Amino acid sequence: MIRKTISLPCLDALSPTLESTALKLMEETGELAQVIGKYRGMSGEPSHKSQKQVVELIVEELVDVAQTAVTMMYVLEREYDVDIDQALRHHVEKMIRKGYTTG
Ligand SMILES: [Mg+2]
Repeated sequence: MIRKTISLPCLDALSPTLESTALKLMEETGELAQVIGKYRGMSGEPSHKSQKQVVELIVEELVDVAQTAVTMMYVLEREYDVDIDQALRHHVEKMIRKGYTTG
C-alpha cells in the first residue's frame, strides 16, 4: 500500500477554535475550487497561465486545505480531548472495509 504522510505545524501564533477552523476550511476549499475552475477555463474566461503555473496554484490551495484540516485536529485534541491517532487508525480500517485499499 502506498501512503502519504502529512506533517504540518501547530500554528502557535494563532488562537483557532472549532468554529474558526471550520469556517477557514470552507474558505480554503472554496479557494481550491476557484483556482481549479478559473484556471481550467470552466468559468468561460480564457486562462493566460501555463499548465505548470495552474498546477502550482492548485497545490498551494490544496496545502492550505490540509493545513486547516490539521489545525482543526490540533483544536480537537487540545479542546475536546480527541485521540486523532486513533481516529486515523479507524479511518484506515474503514477504507480497508470498503475495499478502497488493502491497508
Ligand atoms: Mg488559500
